[in-house]
Amino acid sequence: MISETLQSQKNYFQTGETKSIAYRKKILKALKTELLLREDDIVAALKKDFNKPAFESVLSETAVVISEIELTLKKLSGWAKPKRVFPSLLNFPSTDKIYSEPYGTVLIIAPWNYPYQLALAPLIAAIAAGNTIVLKPSELTPNTSSLINSIVTTVFKPEHVRVIEGGVDVSQTLLAQRWDYIFFTGSVAVGKIVAKAAAEHLTPTTLELGGKNPCIIDDTAPIGLTAKRIVWGKFLNAGQTCIAPDYILIHHTKKEAFYTALKNEIDKAYSPNPQQSDDYARIVNTKNFERLQAMLTNENCVIGGDTCSEHLYISPTVIDEPDLDSEVMKDEIFGPILPVISYSNTSELESIILKYEKPLSLYVFTKSTAFYKKIINTFSFGGGVINDTIIHFINHRLPFGGVGNSGIGAYHGKLSFDTFSHQKAIVKKGNWLDLPLRYAPYNNKLGFIKQVLKWL
Ligand code: NAD
Repeated sequence: MISETLQSQKNYFQTGETKSIAYRKKILKALKTELLLREDDIVAALKKDFNKPAFESVLSETAVVISEIELTLKKLSGWAKPKRVFPSLLNFPSTDKIYSEPYGTVLIIAPWNYPYQLALAPLIAAIAAGNTIVLKPSELTPNTSSLINSIVTTVFKPEHVRVIEGGVDVSQTLLAQRWDYIFFTGSVAVGKIVAKAAAEHLTPTTLELGGKNPCIIDDTAPIGLTAKRIVWGKFLNAGQTCIAPDYILIHHTKKEAFYTALKNEIDKAYSPNPQQSDDYARIVNTKNFERLQAMLTNENCVIGGDTCSEHLYISPTVIDEPDLDSEVMKDEIFGPILPVISYSNTSELESIILKYEKPLSLYVFTKSTAFYKKIINTFSFGGGVINDTIIHFINHRLPFGGVGNSGIGAYHGKLSFDTFSHQKAIVKKGNWLDLPLRYAPYNNKLGFIKQVLKWL
């Protein structure tokens, strides 16, 4: 069935219909209409899947997708136009252009943590670029995934866009096919499986992965505001955000005040009993709940630490000074647990950050320009924010992606369109002049060509 779907999408791509800009716009408008119509259903599906609060669903899922589609509709003609570039004088006379052409038939594999946005945003870009697409949403959020399937089936011909639901086995069958591009969002471990499968066919890929994101607080940062912004970025989606601060590195003189401020902000946001709050999500499934619960063993929870397996609930939790080799400091946490480690000098900071792979994000809270510039210039990471958390995601003019183990490639805004397009370089040579210099026999032209190359 999967190979038939793929073949029908390849055949449809060859008809050229998806290459028409007018068609791309028409179908994106139809998609937008359907997405707006189904917004309440999407919010309800996310609620069912992991108790995602409606406010967070609108802010971080539906609004992001609508703004992406609106930007694409506004800019698509310009993005898709061949771009004239300055020609090389060595080719004189010529006109040089870059053509954006769709790759062909692409595979998008999405994760569960923002199951709507992280499936739809790449899908919009792949359509805008003129591809045919198979989308595999996450099996861990079945309500959202089946709704995405229903929306896509309503709007698209199956040979243009098709959703294939399923788990690891379906994903692996899909990966065994020959695609023209693979766009994967998920864990580092599965990212490596995707990269291996893609290498088999030399398929280009984008890998949007994760990592352990440090959040540094120096001794100049205003502690109240810092705590408020960290509580928001860390406990949104119950910490199940790829760019959430993973652990705090705080100047030792500020730690006690920070704990008081954190407790205050957590209480304000979610009440002293967050389990009763309508604004706090749940852990996606039992496997992840148990993985997170195990991180709490033998740790000093200075805030929270409450769990309820029946409701997959883990309260916003802060751990004081965990051992760097403990469970909570081994891998990406991806849940509402925040370890806090104090430091006294920058060499301590460096040794902790460099113990881990290059993270997807890094955050610095400071009033010192010199301090944050040093951090930016010292460490390699996907992207970051000074004096806040996760908001770099919002600006479509900024590339969003990792580096090293946290990912390959980036997207958002125009870059999303470029991600799903091959940049084809074309030189159109003029016939009215044909300089003899480059042609054999070369005779004594070597000296002259050396002079010419020096001028250019
Ligand atoms: P995951 O890697 O377990 O799953 C992602 C997708 O891959 C799912 O559709 C799943 O069905 C499929 N999959 C799972 N195991 C597979 C296998 N063995 N072979 C083939 N396919 C397989 O990730 P997840 O748990 O859904 O999401 C959480 C991870 O994603 C975190 O590590 C997080 O940091 C990362 N993430 C990254 C970004 C980003 O933009 N960089 C965004 C969200 C999540």
